[in-house]
Amino acid sequence: MKAVVYREKGELALEQRPVPQIMDPMDAIVKVKLAAICSSDLHIKHGAVPRAVPGTILGHEMVGIIEELGEAVHHLKIGDRVTVNCETFCGNCFFCKRGYVNNCSAPGGGWTLGCSADGGQAEYVRVPYAENCLDRIPESVSDEAALLVGDVLSTGYWAAQITEIQPADTVVIIGAGPTGLSTAMCARLYAPSCIVVVDISQERLNFAIEHGLADVIVNPRNEDVTEVVEKLTEGRGADRVFEVAGGKGTFELAWKIARCSAVVCIVAMYEEPQVLPLNEMYGKNLVFKTGGVHASSCKEILKLAACGKLDARPLITHRFTLDGVMEGYRIFEAQEDGVIKVAIAPDNGA
Ligand SMILES: [Zn+2]
Ligand SMILES: [Zn+2]
Repeated sequence: MKAVVYREKGELALEQRPVPQIMDPMDAIVKVKLAAICSSDLHIKHGAVPRAVPGTILGHEMVGIIEELGEAVHHLKIGDRVTVNCETFCGNCFFCKRGYVNNCSAPGGGWTLGCSADGGQAEYVRVPYAENCLDRIPESVSDEAALLVGDVLSTGYWAAQITEIQPADTVVIIGAGPTGLSTAMCARLYAPSCIVVVDISQERLNFAIEHGLADVIVNPRNEDVTEVVEKLTEGRGADRVFEVAGGKGTFELAWKIARCSAVVCIVAMYEEPQVLPLNEMYGKNLVFKTGGVHASSCKEILKLAACGKLDARPLITHRFTLDGVMEGYRIFEAQEDGVIKVAIAPDNGA
């Protein structure tokens, strides 16, 4: 089968690989219908993910059809249309029992798919702990509407949840990439009075406004973010801040625009260390929450998609076959053509 492989720092390639086989009774083999390219794939390419293993097939965000099941999987059946969770987790360890599935301590637990275990930018993918990590897609939810459930929608949902948004809060989201916009989408569920989206890409900001994901947009190239936020909050600062950009200076911006006793959620994955100047922020009583996502809410997200309360379809702006995947990567990395999210459809007859 064809698969996108992380060869070494700086190099991805489309290769021929054997179709994966069941290796454990809790496994499933999923025939991939759609996979997405994620910023984390680029972090791996840049060598910024220490646990990524060269030679691994990328892809941790996909939907497909169950092709084969291990004998210990009872609640799924062959032919089910499913989303694949970006995290594989045992469900039984100390962390899983508390919902912290990203920290699953079982072998192969946490974020391994497309990082240290072969992922889904391929025609087929082997999914361990299938009963925990595959969720049946309701009939009314299309493949594209379900594609982002296992990763960026889970991330936005988790971030909005842990940041404890109160009705009528002013929420600032730094970064209008796919995860930032998913976060905006999920923040809306908590009825904030105003969502401010900050990005240096005017194209992405315009996209956010056009799709109702932002009430106010700010481009730091033309405007002072602090001034805009102060104006909106009687000088106090934002009630909740999400740092989803991971760029130069965006961490500093996040805590500076937060009001006293605000919650600042760090969703971004940095490629460099950040400075936390506790001496400067003493008395500000900030609460910091950091990633990665505990992707344990796929069922709720699919329910919200089925009843129309979460619709991530507009985020998928570009589509490629596996043969065209490298062009997809190029556009995504260069942020060309108004790209938000790239979907890849393997030509496997799924
Ligand atoms: Zn991802
Ligand atoms: Zn576990």
